[in-house]
Amino acid sequence: MNDVVIVGGGPAGLTAALFAEKNGLGTTLLDTDGTWMHKAHLFNYPGIGSIDGSAYMETLRQQVDSFGVERLQGTEAVDVEQTDDGFRVVTDADAVEGRYLVLATGANRDLAESLGCAFDGDVVDADVTMETSVDGAYATGAMVRAEEWQAVISAGDGAAAALNILSAEKGEHYHDFDVPNDAEAVFGGMAAEE
Ligand SMILES: Cc1cc2nc3c(=O)[nH]c(=O)nc-3n(C[C@H](O)[C@H](O)[C@H](O)COP(=O)(O)OP(=O)(O)OC[C@H]3O[C@@H](n4cnc5c(N)ncnc54)[C@H](O)[C@@H]3O)c2cc1C
Repeated sequence: MNDVVIVGGGPAGLTAALFAEKNGLGTTLLDTDGTWMHKAHLFNYPGIGSIDGSAYMETLRQQVDSFGVERLQGTEAVDVEQTDDGFRVVTDADAVEGRYLVLATGANRDLAESLGCAFDGDVVDADVTMETSVDGAYATGAMVRAEEWQAVISAGDGAAAALNILSAEKGEHYHDFDVPNDAEAVFGGMAAEE
């Protein structure tokens, strides 16, 4: 039983994984690598001048891996169901369980539908914390939006979902704020020199 299971490894899912695992929640992510990012070149991602979409994915995957996320690349979630303790994500070979679920499957909304999440027209209905009508189940990125399909918005959705899960766990609003001394503690002298 993990703390968080994430289905989908585009900007939304990977960002949710980054925030969750960085802050102490054991996180497993399943992804089939069909992300639109492989077709994109980013000139509009704040703080990054210009980067190929696949290169962005590679960097974000490394960042997530460095924090210890269990990333099951090439693993498809074929179904998801609620259990007494949370959620069970079924794959072709196995199943992964988590107390919280984050769906980040891009424009594919099939799992949200089979879980029984409410829809608003064609998109999954989620509030500003990205929680769906199913307690503990979050939907992020392109699946909750009719049009605002931008990498930075999906990443923001993933962060919002993870922060809300962390707030629920801690019983108070949680912020993932770091200061320069934190960088030195994590990266040592190299961080101070950069
Ligand atoms: C041609 C093109 C150019 C673009 N250019 C830009 C741009 O310049 N700037 C910008 O901001 N945005 C751009 N975008 C949009 C951007 O790529 C998307 O907004 C972004 O990728 C959405 O992120 P996401 O995480 O919501 O979904 P996605 O990136 O689509 O990721 C979803 C992931 O979930 C996986 N998945 C789906 N179902 C399952 C399942 N059942 N089990 C396991 N994994 C599953 C998919 O394989 C995929 O890897 C462009 C898109 C296209 C098509």
